[in-house]
Amino acid sequence: MKILVINAGSSSLKYQLIDMDNEQVLAKGLCERIGIDGSNLQHTNVVKGEKTKIEKPMKDHGDAIQMVIDALVDENIGVIKSMDEIGAVGHRVVHGAEEFADSCMITEAVMKALEKCTPLAPLHNPPNIIGIKACQKIMPNTPMVGVFDTAFHQTMPPKAFMYALPYEYYEKDRIRKYGFHGTSHKYVSQKAAEFLGKPASELKIVTCHLGNGSSISAVDGGKCVDTSMGFTPLDGVPMGTRTGSMDPAVVTYLINQKGMSAKDVDAMMNKESGVSGVSGVSSDFRDLSAAAAEGNKRAQLALDMFTYQVKKDIGAYAAAMGGVDAVVFTAGVGENDAATRAAIVDGLDFMGIKIDDSKNNTRGTVDISADDAKVKTLVIPTNEELMIAIDTKRLVEGK
Ligand code: AMP
Repeated sequence: MKILVINAGSSSLKYQLIDMDNEQVLAKGLCERIGIDGSNLQHTNVVKGEKTKIEKPMKDHGDAIQMVIDALVDENIGVIKSMDEIGAVGHRVVHGAEEFADSCMITEAVMKALEKCTPLAPLHNPPNIIGIKACQKIMPNTPMVGVFDTAFHQTMPPKAFMYALPYEYYEKDRIRKYGFHGTSHKYVSQKAAEFLGKPASELKIVTCHLGNGSSISAVDGGKCVDTSMGFTPLDGVPMGTRTGSMDPAVVTYLINQKGMSAKDVDAMMNKESGVSGVSGVSSDFRDLSAAAAEGNKRAQLALDMFTYQVKKDIGAYAAAMGGVDAVVFTAGVGENDAATRAAIVDGLDFMGIKIDDSKNNTRGTVDISADDAKVKTLVIPTNEELMIAIDTKRLVEGK
């Protein structure tokens, strides 16, 4: 079965067509500037290894999906003969709230439930919903599945997901920890179990998704029991431009004492903070490492703050699970930045976590643990698109 994976943003749409018989990507690409001047489609025929850029106005996501389908079935740049070869479409949806604890087939009722989740993710869910509707119009007979960033974290117990606010804020306003990057945490925790040759049900794993956005999860017996992102993706460790956790009273202080608007504080905490805000250099860890190596103290401080918080979360989640069998690094920083991985686990040998420097300097899916380490430290490249396709296939086959 061939599955089309769609990740629709406000003015962009990413896609992959995956052949699930061998989990090979046949084609992938990106529509940019949807509804804005200069719309274009960047399409890669992975089979032939050929890239094409098509500049054409796309007034909405419907136009974008049509262009994607046209590219996929095109004689020259395409990979399939007709749209009928697409067995199902898997849509990434950011927020599924408590409504969705697993991926699900998209029905009328599901669309209504999705709309109910929108107030919790006002920037992200609307384009996801528009993407689904546009696809349904063009491919009315193709089954569609929604895969939620929050779903994997729905197994967290109340003691982990509740905030100590008056209870009605949870009951009436649904304010609680949801967690994000769930598709990635699920994928790498399953891959880690496969790699270690043990059932996920027997493993306690801390998964560290470290990229421009970062989150850490505690996965006990294959189920998420805690995660660092919260009500929104602003919580947890410091990120590229996001603060991560801090005393919430800073927000009211800035509003009451500095006269900042709630909107300005929100923008500052999401877009001007994190390692970029602290360093004044960049949100990119490559730039930070280069600046730190040249003696930039604030770049070093930003890196130290990041690695310190990730280290603390690993310790906290080991305590929460009553032990840890494996720590997994993934995403842009987790997969590529050996120095940051080394700094994070430095000093954790007291709990059995120790890496081998030469193994740490390799790439791909790799065990970087020292020979005498009690806990396995693994690097596992994430693949959210494949996880979406795997879930889509499972649901379409009625499993
Ligand atoms: P992601 O959000 O998973 O795409 O990760 C993006 C981030 O990964 C970038 O902002 C970089 O900071 C980081 N990154 C990617 N490649 C490297 C590398 N070779 N060394 C250090 N950081 C990297």
